[in-house]
Amino acid sequence: MIAWNSTPVPELDGGQADLELFDTGRQESVLLPTREERSLYVCGITPYDATHLGHASTYVAFDLLNRLWRDAGSSVSYVQNVTDVDDPLLARADATGVAWQDLAAEQIELFREDMAALNVLPPDHYIGAVESIAWIVPVVEDLVDRGLAYAVPGGAGEPDGDIYFSLDAVASLQEDDDARWFLGQVSHLDADAMLELSAERGGDPTRPNKHNALDPLLWRAARVGEPSWEGGRLGEGRPGWHIECAVIAHRFLPAPFTVQGGGSDLIFPHHEMSAAHAWASGGTPLAEHYAHTGMVGYDGEKMSKSRGNLVLVSTLRRSGTDPAAIRLAILAHHYRSDWSWTAEVLPEALARLAAWREAAELATSADVGLVRDRIREHLSHDLDAPSALAAVDAWADSTRDRAAAPAADAATGAAAQQLSDVLDALLGVKLRA
Ligand code: ZN
Repeated sequence: MIAWNSTPVPELDGGQADLELFDTGRQESVLLPTREERSLYVCGITPYDATHLGHASTYVAFDLLNRLWRDAGSSVSYVQNVTDVDDPLLARADATGVAWQDLAAEQIELFREDMAALNVLPPDHYIGAVESIAWIVPVVEDLVDRGLAYAVPGGAGEPDGDIYFSLDAVASLQEDDDARWFLGQVSHLDADAMLELSAERGGDPTRPNKHNALDPLLWRAARVGEPSWEGGRLGEGRPGWHIECAVIAHRFLPAPFTVQGGGSDLIFPHHEMSAAHAWASGGTPLAEHYAHTGMVGYDGEKMSKSRGNLVLVSTLRRSGTDPAAIRLAILAHHYRSDWSWTAEVLPEALARLAAWREAAELATSADVGLVRDRIREHLSHDLDAPSALAAVDAWADSTRDRAAAPAADAATGAAAQQLSDVLDALLGVKLRA
């Protein structure tokens, strides 16, 4: 499906140092040297309640990574999915009396508008679950043929033919000590924590007749009242979520690709299981590195529709809020921290944006290189946007002080434009429309 439009990223002088990034899978910071080609997969939305601040902060965080790699001269292949058929979407459509396709289409369009407004660079491939079904079916058929997936009998109102991935069968493929795949490779959780999170996040660990309680669903057999598609030897049905991402990533990106990104609520089971699927079906790791963003709450509480405290980017935009300020509000928090949207967050961002705009008009050419280098330096340390913002604040303060003094350097219009370009290219913050 089509992604969204973006304005060209200004090209800056100089290069970028190697990037240090915290890798969830390795549980430590890793150094990613500058390379010609980089690849990124960030899990997309299930299109309902788009785009709340939690979504926005995740896509803005990985947009920083995308921009930093491009600034270093790398070409970046970026893929994002959109889970345009899944249980929560169907449940929301049912509850609101809307056709699921209409709900998905409306929310995807809203998401595109929000991403464009927030100056998030679009993926090269934006792929829906529905359009990937024809690629997923043969992968699941192959897993069944190789004894790595199995059908679970129905009963209790469930049809026969749901297909599950066998974690134990995949584990038994490799007995040696340096196994290239193991359950827990991404999340490092113990079995109890996995069971708990599986139940919380869409898994069904208590379903009878599974070989292992944690085995994830690959293919859901058709049910009355649910959409379904032709599934070859699998029968009519629809795909599970983890295999969707594994197959889309494998189709459009190298194996392994550089960074798998998403919110920290995707570490388990989603990224753990996608990695397992990729290994079982392709014999390669899914990704070299896993990076995860913190959760965004509201006044210290979880942000959710049921609590009625979702902050939506579209609502802020409609109220006339400059999207550059929304982006700055997000960037004021480190991408890995959990943080809360409070009454102070937006006014602070608006004040900062105004201060930067004022200072940019007074910029000299010497300022441009200084601001550029400081932002690059901070972002290269695990995308430390808050420190980058503080550095720009310090520059803006000194610039205003300097301009107030009688012997102020002569500011030029060209430098103001160049400074805006630096903030746009590296932080995605547009000072000028
Ligand atoms: Zn995913």
